[in-house]
Amino acid sequence: MATQPEPRPGIPSLFTQPPPIRDPLVTETTRLQEATVEKCLTFLKGLHPSQTGPFNDTGVPALHREDHVTYLYESLEDYPAGFVAMDASRPWMVYWALAGLALLGEDPTHFRERVLGTLRPMQNATGGFGGGHGQTSHLASSYAAVLALAMVGGAEAFALVDRDAMWRWLGRLKQADGGFSVTEGGEEDVRGAYCASTIIALLDIPLVLPPDATKAREAGFETLTDGLAEYLSRCQSFEGGISGSPGVEAHGAYAFCALACLSILGAPEEIIPKHMNLPLLLSWLSARQYAPEGGFSGRTNKLVDGCYSHWVGGCWPLLQSALDGKPQPSGAPPETVGSLFSRDGLDRYILGCCQTPMGGLRDKPGKSADSYHTCYVLTGLSATQHHHYRTNASISPDSPFASAFSWQASPVAVEESVYESADRLVAFHPLFVIPHQAAANMRIWCESNPIHV
Ligand SMILES: [Zn+2]
Repeated sequence: MATQPEPRPGIPSLFTQPPPIRDPLVTETTRLQEATVEKCLTFLKGLHPSQTGPFNDTGVPALHREDHVTYLYESLEDYPAGFVAMDASRPWMVYWALAGLALLGEDPTHFRERVLGTLRPMQNATGGFGGGHGQTSHLASSYAAVLALAMVGGAEAFALVDRDAMWRWLGRLKQADGGFSVTEGGEEDVRGAYCASTIIALLDIPLVLPPDATKAREAGFETLTDGLAEYLSRCQSFEGGISGSPGVEAHGAYAFCALACLSILGAPEEIIPKHMNLPLLLSWLSARQYAPEGGFSGRTNKLVDGCYSHWVGGCWPLLQSALDGKPQPSGAPPETVGSLFSRDGLDRYILGCCQTPMGGLRDKPGKSADSYHTCYVLTGLSATQHHHYRTNASISPDSPFASAFSWQASPVAVEESVYESADRLVAFHPLFVIPHQAAANMRIWCESNPIHV
């Protein structure tokens, strides 16, 4: 039998060996899981020929920053014909690239003119943005468009949004059970709740229901946010995770949407325990991180995938804040319960398994890079590199969203981490998933230019 090459020095055995306990029942799921572990182990040990390094003392390869920057710039250029299926996701393509570039330290404001020119025709006179020119407005594409406008910044970008039409459109999407459908006549899910609350908070959309919010009025609601937290509460599943709508399977991306939506609506230490079974949620969320891979899966019995570095990884700062309690009056970081997941494990998965040799990041070894995974893997890496906490100094102290605009971040010390200082990314706002200043600038401009309803 050929001897296995030794892992690079500095890597704990947790990340170099298969799990010690295995279920004797063999199914397609367990076979896929074992194959994924085998593939990841070569990368975690730093032994795959495509890994060029340099490797540090903990056996982790450097972040290939320049390659990822180049990849994302190229993702904003022309696409071959096969990409026609992405035509309904054009605001997303803009968002993923700009967010990834901002995380890597590039300045997204250089793209202002191009972004305004791209997004302007996608806005509909009846409110909201479609996925492309002439397409029906959708909450997901509107969310991506608003975040892209926030990142390029400036009065012209903020003023591009027809906020009066957006307010009326959101009213028509508001449902009798408190949630939002993603498009008029379309499905209702937790994405809709999160995208709507993000748009409302960043654009200072009036909370009072517009005249044509028929379903919400008939249910007795008075505002766009009435009944929303209660709706999210009904989306927690028997496993403790959060599903897209009541009664279906819990999923990492919906967990982030629900927890971020709650944390936009109120202070995490009050609103999350009030509407979620916290011990059960912690249990489900903890089970999403696998060893030896170090990355997160999105659902029970599924494989690790780099994009959950954000969807699951982004839940942790919100739960940590909920457990840490009220902000310190001094504005200093609070006494904290500490990390609730293995930051080192996730960093090893991201830097070891998700970087592709030509730039861009991926789901897992064997998959290709794309701008969606590049954006959310980098967002997850940034989240591991910072402590996120709230202060009493909100930029919008008198609004219902005071807590949402009070987040700060401080870097985790490199000495306590498996990456190098050169691998540090920009901290992102943990609810809006854009730079802190971009979120603040949009909110402040909209507050000083209110719409009258
Ligand atoms: Zn993915």
